[in-house]
Amino acid sequence: MLATVPSATLVGVEGEPVTVEVHVARGLPGFRVVGLPDASCREARDRVRAAITSSGFTWPQKRVTVNLAPSGLRKAGPSLDLAIALGTLVADGQLPSGALRDLAFLAELGLDGSLRPVTGILPLAGALRSRAVVVAPASTHEAALLARAEVRTAPELGTLVKVLRGGAPWPPWPSPGEAALEPPVPDLAEVRGQALGRQAIEVAGAGGHHLLMVGPAGAGKTMLATRLPGLLPALSPDEALEVAKVRSAAGLEVGAGGLSFRPPFRAPHHSASAVSLIGGGGARLRPGEVSCAHYGVLFLDELTEFPGTVLDNLRQPLEEGRIVVCRASAVVSFPARFMLVAAMNGCRCGGEGSPGSCRCPEAVRRRYASRISGPLLDRFDLRVRLRRPEVRELFGAPGSDGGVGEPTRVVAARVARARALAESRGVRCNAELVPAALDTYGPLGASARKLLERKLQEGTLSARGLHRVRRVALTVADLSGAEGRLSDEHVTMALALRSPGILGREDPAPSVFPNWSSRAGAGA
Ligand SMILES: [Zn+2]
Repeated sequence: MLATVPSATLVGVEGEPVTVEVHVARGLPGFRVVGLPDASCREARDRVRAAITSSGFTWPQKRVTVNLAPSGLRKAGPSLDLAIALGTLVADGQLPSGALRDLAFLAELGLDGSLRPVTGILPLAGALRSRAVVVAPASTHEAALLARAEVRTAPELGTLVKVLRGGAPWPPWPSPGEAALEPPVPDLAEVRGQALGRQAIEVAGAGGHHLLMVGPAGAGKTMLATRLPGLLPALSPDEALEVAKVRSAAGLEVGAGGLSFRPPFRAPHHSASAVSLIGGGGARLRPGEVSCAHYGVLFLDELTEFPGTVLDNLRQPLEEGRIVVCRASAVVSFPARFMLVAAMNGCRCGGEGSPGSCRCPEAVRRRYASRISGPLLDRFDLRVRLRRPEVRELFGAPGSDGGVGEPTRVVAARVARARALAESRGVRCNAELVPAALDTYGPLGASARKLLERKLQEGTLSARGLHRVRRVALTVADLSGAEGRLSDEHVTMALALRSPGILGREDPAPSVFPNWSSRAGAGA
């Protein structure tokens, strides 16, 4: 007898529908799974057999053949276990064939017959077309975020079969639990001093520009970076779903408190492997940190400690907003449109890297700086050098110079206005503007053009850098309320925020910046 049961498998961060066909026939007892199962999927044989017998059903002493269709698609992971088990019971006549009508199944089976959650349940449930989908209790809230179908659950196979036979009602969902509450993003007002650092993260957030902060330990680089998500606008519903899909496929917690609209913030440690950063892995290709930071911030602290080969892998996502992972088993494309924020010390000794503050020989400082390749350095639109805050700044009272700065709420409002302007130009943020669009939305005045020409002739600005400086200048203009009319001041500030000699000996960034917050704030 033949049974067909709908289920799904994960390809990258997308779910693909799979039809599980189970055929039970007279003949030598055996159990075969065909249709491109990977290793973990082939192991379903052993889990399913144990789950069926330990749930009080009989394993058919016949020839059992399981076909996973479409046969050209590689099936990975244990998401098909439950469908295989129920298909076997139907094909063996232990469960009426009508019992599974309009239902799809997504769960791993324990040897004791318990239903276990599988990674990627959100995209998997979203791929199904049946009226209802049955998942493990721990998967219910996540599955419900995207499923077109009703979400049903049961704790173990025995209970589920009883329900399917009509002998019991569907068990209730578990409560979402404590994990539902997101911790608050820390406030920018807690950062003392650091006028330059604050402006840099404001410009970065407003324009989606990649940011490199160089400075000694204790300069507040990490403090600034962790406050960036609070400045960014909330994700749109589509973006939030895409982010949730990536998280789900990566096996991270999703959905207990509903869909999250907060831009992700990922801060992998420098000891992270290339696979965990970029994505990939063995048979099951998982999204990496660059994808988990999709539509959010990827923060690399101690940038120089990351192996060069790992950093080189960042080039593709930085240019294309996605990463293609090739393995013998499959080629998968993961989304990875993130803002790169990186921090490093000015010198190996942890000092500022300028002759006054560290006694390291010039060669040591050079070698340290050279760990960051030119092409990677070139991709940072904003490169600022920070210093430790002064004592009077640490104790600064509200209103005193350089002490307590604006809170996140005020800065986020300016960022939101700049992002709205970018949206009116047809992009999410100014960093995404193509060069032709720059001429339309941020035309250069004669003297601003001369200033940039001089930098190009001096060789302190590359052709790629030119477009980056123009995008940053447009963001600066947007933040100061100039709305697209680029003045010399905006270009000068963009150039200063992109110090070409950031890793050199001198401090090229001016210590005093034009302050736009008072002017732009007046118009708010
Ligand atoms: Zn040093």
